[in-house]
Amino acid sequence: MELWYTEEHSPNTRFSIKVKKQLFSEQSPFQRVDVFEAEEFGRFLTLDGLMMVTEKDEFIYHDMIVHVPMATNPDIKNVLVIGAGDGGTVRELTRYETIEKIDMVEIDEMVVDVSRKYLQKTACSLDDKRVTLFFEDGLKFVRDKVECYDLIIVDSTDPVGPGEGLFTKEFYGNCYKALSQNGIMVNQHECPYYEAFAHSMKRAHKRISELFPIVKVYQAHIPTYPSGHWLFGFASKTLDPVKDFKKEQWESLNLTTRYYNTELHTGCFAIPNYVKTLLAEA
Ligand code: SAM
Repeated sequence: MELWYTEEHSPNTRFSIKVKKQLFSEQSPFQRVDVFEAEEFGRFLTLDGLMMVTEKDEFIYHDMIVHVPMATNPDIKNVLVIGAGDGGTVRELTRYETIEKIDMVEIDEMVVDVSRKYLQKTACSLDDKRVTLFFEDGLKFVRDKVECYDLIIVDSTDPVGPGEGLFTKEFYGNCYKALSQNGIMVNQHECPYYEAFAHSMKRAHKRISELFPIVKVYQAHIPTYPSGHWLFGFASKTLDPVKDFKKEQWESLNLTTRYYNTELHTGCFAIPNYVKTLLAEA
């Protein structure tokens, strides 16, 4: 009998992947955690039945959530990562020798344990000596932190369940306070194409724009996320990701990347008109 993983992307749209076998399935205190293996996408992790990461296309998401802010300010030293239990974001960050400290705050220890066991491709750098893991709610973690991070990466689930607090104005305001003068916040910013995601995207954009002077949205093509068209939010107190882009400095690092490159860095901020309209309505 054939086994298929199916996810509803909109009330009238479903996305399916043919599965070879299920490797793990358990309910954590926060969500249902599943790991599957598929011919097309390799191993993949879902939380509450929603796609988080696949071995085949994770490089796109992790390149874009890490290298865009790092190439805007390659002098970043202290980083806070919120969510990101699969470890892919930390793996990309640890490639920068200049980064001194990475605090990662993941609410669900089971996601990290399962990723260490089944998703070594992404979880491979979680033991880097610069990384400290905190198993707590990111919303609570950023309360009362002042100017201690150069970069905050919000690599969260969608704004339902445990991820809900990571899309609130209180959370964004505390991230603003926790950032140094040249600080940058990057977050996964949902998909503009389907109405429910676009609604969350607009609300997040509005809340961030009310706090940060520089707010941009950039995009990538991620085949296993709803519609395949995914957005990231970029917010900073002082740095513009295109005007302040340190192209030569980043190129001199000689990092090999499968998706990100310096042409794409400026190109990804050129967004389609319908997305501009959605953001203007926010
Ligand atoms: N790349 C993914 C995406 O966009 O679908 C996100 C991957 S990562 C696995 C998301 C992580 O955020 C999950 O492991 C989840 O447990 C964590 N998370 C959700 N809410 C959180 C919170 N309030 N504080 C910290 N981590 C949280």
